[in-house]
Amino acid sequence: MGKIELMSEDLANKIAAGEVVEKTMNVVKELVENSIDAKSSEIKIELLDSGIKEIIVTDDGIGMDKDDAILAFSRHATSKLKTLEDLFYINSLGFRGEALPSIAAVSHVNLKTSDGNIGTEVEIDGGNLQEIKYSDLKKGTRITVKNLFFNTPVRLKYLKNPYTELANIVDYVNKMALSFPNIRFLLINNEKILLNTDGKGNLLKVISNIYGIDLAKKMIPIVGENDDYEINGYISYPECARTSKNNIVILVNGRAIKNSEVSKIIIDCYHTYIPESKFPIVILNINVDPILIDVNIHPTKMDIKFSKIDTLKDLISSAIKNKLENINLIPEIKNSISMYNKYNNIPKENDKDNTWMLNNNINNFDIKPVEYSLDLDSTYIVKDSDKTNECVELKNKQEETYLSTKESKIKKMYPVGVVHATYIIAENEDGMFVIDQHAAAERINYEKYLEKLGNNDNTNIELLIPIKLEFSNKDFIILKENLYILLNMGFIIEEFGINTILIRSHPYWLPSYAIEESIKKIIDIVILTENFDKYKFIEKVAATLACKISIKANDRITLTDMEDLLERLRNTKNPFTCPHGRPTIITYSNYELEKLFKRVMN
Ligand code: ZN
Ligand code: ZN
Repeated sequence: MGKIELMSEDLANKIAAGEVVEKTMNVVKELVENSIDAKSSEIKIELLDSGIKEIIVTDDGIGMDKDDAILAFSRHATSKLKTLEDLFYINSLGFRGEALPSIAAVSHVNLKTSDGNIGTEVEIDGGNLQEIKYSDLKKGTRITVKNLFFNTPVRLKYLKNPYTELANIVDYVNKMALSFPNIRFLLINNEKILLNTDGKGNLLKVISNIYGIDLAKKMIPIVGENDDYEINGYISYPECARTSKNNIVILVNGRAIKNSEVSKIIIDCYHTYIPESKFPIVILNINVDPILIDVNIHPTKMDIKFSKIDTLKDLISSAIKNKLENINLIPEIKNSISMYNKYNNIPKENDKDNTWMLNNNINNFDIKPVEYSLDLDSTYIVKDSDKTNECVELKNKQEETYLSTKESKIKKMYPVGVVHATYIIAENEDGMFVIDQHAAAERINYEKYLEKLGNNDNTNIELLIPIKLEFSNKDFIILKENLYILLNMGFIIEEFGINTILIRSHPYWLPSYAIEESIKKIIDIVILTENFDKYKFIEKVAATLACKISIKANDRITLTDMEDLLERLRNTKNPFTCPHGRPTIITYSNYELEKLFKRVMN
């Protein structure tokens, strides 16, 4: 007697909506979950052309007897799963029975399986059973899915490009490897290994396999428990923040799920530690009695609700905050040392011992240089130490002549002071002005970058010491696909070992004191770019760099610098907003002032 039973109509229908096969990832997911369900300790996923041509999943699990092997491809067959909540009891993972027939209907499937007795081989073409015979397989299951959507060309057309398909698969297999550190996962595309875990149960090692060893070093273990929940996992140092929320992985009883409340509480813990558009890397295991959860299946994700969510939130938030507060105890003096090294790109002799600590803090604190002046060559208002005064003055004059030939959108304003080292107060014959110094500098720098980026001049500067950057396996795939964008900008880049690149040269316009950080920001934008549009891309890079290098709120500048800032703002194409759309200037006309002070009526 086989282990597969027919599942209830109700459950089958609930699941059906979620089991539409439309991506190669859906196929991999179904096969891998079958393998996990079969108690495998090793799962090998081999792809040809991101799985579009071929997907082979091989496991060493319990396998199937002949009856089950045939039944596996009939609709509504399931093994053990009786209710959705069953999913969250350990070892009952999959929705057997719905997707397998759907996959077989749109591809060529070959199944070899053995429960240790007699092996069976089943061949199905476009849903039609072709052949059942004995197989030489000793134990486990090997399913080959070839030519996905060969008989449904419309769906084939809707497959994303091979890189996106592959990125989705890598993302999914990463999550499974994180959920099951006890299972060895091997993921290969066109003979290239993308993920290889050892299955020895060490979560940190899996994190290192996915994100690289540098990142794994910056993960902090967390644990906690209360009456209902037990949590454990790893959280990243704030500096490791990514631009995607996708690196927050929440597992409930070993199963990856979505829950916006839990994600939000994690992100909130990092509030003020990292910029708002960035997200930490977090792998959080939540162990809970399944009675306390309510499962909801969507076509693309698994959403669950927790009873007693407030006690869970408290537990998570205190566990994370506790760790983050401790990181901050590192004295701030270290930051300036690290920034110094970073600006100068010269490693110090004693760096070896300290690298880890120093690097950890580079992004933790915003270093706010106090002295500013002009560097017209590249950017407006940069750190004093970055240029010599003579050179600035000369260029200053050239620039003035150039500027005065342009037509300004607003009249000249004269600064009279500054409030909170943030808002410049200025005047002219028309009235009074309040200028946000960051927004204004950002607008000026933004337009400069736009111009430099738009003129297709890819003159570059060679780095004395090349910069090495490591990525997650998934980001690396996307980066490689889009590498031409960086090359066209003037970067010279080499592939350098696993998921790592070496930057040898960079475009001349990068701010000289924040090379590495700027490069990282640009690469982030490249990785997040879907459907590359040159103009939009340039805008985004210009806005990001402008924000990075411009004076911030609370940075003190001199009256002369204010004068200059206002003059430059006046001569931009759009002096009224920063690249993010926030206003740069608020005006009180003379009339309004008089009205406010009731010097005039009506
Ligand atoms: Zn900004
Ligand atoms: Zn802005």
